[in-house]
Amino acid sequence: MAKTLSPVCKLCRREGEKLFLKGERCYTPKCSFEKRSFAPGQHGRTAGRGGGKGMGTGRASDFARQLRAKQKARRIYGVLERQFRRYYDTAKSGTSLTGLTLLQILESRLDNVVYRLGFASSRSQARLLVTHGHFTVNGRRSDVPSMILYAGDQVQVRDGSNKLTYFKELGDIAEKRNAPSWLSRDVKQMSGAVARMPERAEIDGSLDEQLIVEYYSRR
Ligand code: SF4
Repeated sequence: MAKTLSPVCKLCRREGEKLFLKGERCYTPKCSFEKRSFAPGQHGRTAGRGGGKGMGTGRASDFARQLRAKQKARRIYGVLERQFRRYYDTAKSGTSLTGLTLLQILESRLDNVVYRLGFASSRSQARLLVTHGHFTVNGRRSDVPSMILYAGDQVQVRDGSNKLTYFKELGDIAEKRNAPSWLSRDVKQMSGAVARMPERAEIDGSLDEQLIVEYYSRR
């Protein structure tokens, strides 16, 4: 399973904003960004929020903003560089807007869909649940978090997994979490489906896909 190695809260401090990588904890005073919002490392305090290498002026500043936009998206979706680049290449080879297509690919990953359906409190938890084989896609067990789903694909908690305490208690919790309208959901059945691809307004507005496209265009 692809994963980044640094402690996740450091990633928020590196980006200078909350990325909500740890589920419920992110919404409580226990969130470490609330206490330490400066970048990690020796020069974190002096660099300030969003600071770091390359935050100078002119070309360096443009590059730094593009790099940060790409890193932020990568960290939010928990995708390693090589795979992220592959997603970009796929998006670029299509006929639609590259940036939007890239975001749609990221949203269509199985781990993200499980998270968006409210069956996990964070993408990292969703990734773990998928890896442990608790979900089926179109009736077949799938333990690949990066699996890309398409309109019409059905996701369901596997029969045997329904008996686990986590899933027994999940119903009430999932009801309180909103699912986006590009997904349909049946909490009682612990299932959901991709109704269509998400529109831009239904994807995290803080992501800047144009900067990501610019980052890869210059490489
Ligand atoms: Fe980021 Fe969540 Fe950690 Fe806060 S608790 S620093 S939002 S991952």
